Amino acid sequence: MSSVLSTFTRRILPHVRQTSGHQVRCAVSSLASLPEEHEMLRKTCRDFADNELKPNAAEWDRNHTYPVKQVKGLGELGLLAVSVSEKYGGTNLDYLAYAIAMEEISRGCASTGTIMSVNNSLYLGPLEGFGTEKQKEEFIAPFVNGDRVGCFALSEPDNGSDAGAASTTARLDGDHWVLNGAKMWITNGYEAEAAIVFARTDKAMKHKGISAFIVPKPYEGLALGKKEDKLGIKATSTCQLMFEDCRIPKENILGQEGMGFKIAMSTLDAGRIGIAGQALGIAQASIDCAIDYATKREAFNQPISRFQTIQTKLADMEVRVESARLLTWKAAMMKDAGLNYTQEAAMGKLAASEAATYCSHQAIQILGGMGYVTDMPAERHYRDARITEIYEGTSEIQKFVIAGQMLKKHSEMMS
Ligand SMILES: Cc1cc2nc3c(=O)[nH]c(=O)nc-3n(C[C@H](O)[C@H](O)[C@H](O)COP(=O)(O)OP(=O)(O)OC[C@H]3O[C@@H](n4cnc5c(N)ncnc54)[C@H](O)[C@@H]3O)c2cc1C
Repeated sequence: MSSVLSTFTRRILPHVRQTSGHQVRCAVSSLASLPEEHEMLRKTCRDFADNELKPNAAEWDRNHTYPVKQVKGLGELGLLAVSVSEKYGGTNLDYLAYAIAMEEISRGCASTGTIMSVNNSLYLGPLEGFGTEKQKEEFIAPFVNGDRVGCFALSEPDNGSDAGAASTTARLDGDHWVLNGAKMWITNGYEAEAAIVFARTDKAMKHKGISAFIVPKPYEGLALGKKEDKLGIKATSTCQLMFEDCRIPKENILGQEGMGFKIAMSTLDAGRIGIAGQALGIAQASIDCAIDYATKREAFNQPISRFQTIQTKLADMEVRVESARLLTWKAAMMKDAGLNYTQEAAMGKLAASEAATYCSHQAIQILGGMGYVTDMPAERHYRDARITEIYEGTSEIQKFVIAGQMLKKHSEMMS
């Protein structure tokens, strides 16, 4: 614990500033029971989001600008490697801290939240969990401080939800693996300086024929596709990674041959807690925007916040966000306690992403015409929210995971 505190004190504590009365009231109302360390982290992240992200998010969205300086700032605060061990330069905090940090950063800018989540849980997560000591030194330490980010390449043009059907191949040729095929929708694809890539090493086996590899970028035999023009999270790059006889050293396999699907699924379990946090941030930003507008906008000679239909919307939004937040924190705490949290992570992600979609939709309604134009952030929140129901498993897949876990527990109970 002392090492956790020393890292925290060294890297985050100095950045905690006096918060305004409003911020303190918000924090107290929803977080009274959290440990002091998490409260401080939350305030630090909120301060960074309010000062560095929120004022720029609309412009980054409009111009599709990757926030280089702010990503470096995240690294300096220790937020690009929140749960990574201090031994590799990480911040060594728990997953509850990560969920809270993801919420606060995404509240300021959902795109920045996406960049942060990919580096933390999709790139560094599997490296720390399954990498050799040499791989950790080479591919974790340089990726914690914001100078470099990583990416995670599982999805393919023909296989998204059905990740076990991967058709990218890796063939052993002497001291090298030779990769061929294409990965699609890869976040941080343009900026990343290394990728975790999943490829088929055994055609006869479905899930058990997939292995994971570490591929530095740029690299001979690896080309990037066009930058996708997306509905939301426009400040992130998303592109194809195309492998043509890409020869990587034999030792760049992550874990054992055939372990790739297991690595991908355990990575996504953890990643879903981060996406739930991101969705909570978008949902909360929608509420913040809606409540502020409702108290200022007048119709029929009174603030619209006095109308019961507006109040009902605000209440419904708050209940959904707070319920989803509790589910997300429960999943994070179960992970921190070393318990199986697959079902809880899926429930947190499902509830939080649906809350984000719902709240951002209602926020536009509360703002009326002003909700529909880019002068206000409501329409951006609405566009950003939708991705949280799609990546790291669609909402349909979360239900599949939840029901699968329920049925498994039931059959274990009956046997
Ligand atoms: C902006 C963006 C960023 C992304 N970033 C990454 C990344 O960094 N790395 C990466 O590997 N991937 C990434 N993805 C890919 C993402 O994870 C996939 O898009 C997602 O898993 C869905 O796969 P798909 O698009 O192929 O849809 P499909 O799998 O084709 O699904 C289409 C529809 O069918 C439904 N469906 C599919 N199977 C079932 C089922 N068994 N039961 C019920 N319904 C089902 C789905 O829910 C969906 O509604 C990203 C995607 C986007 C859009």
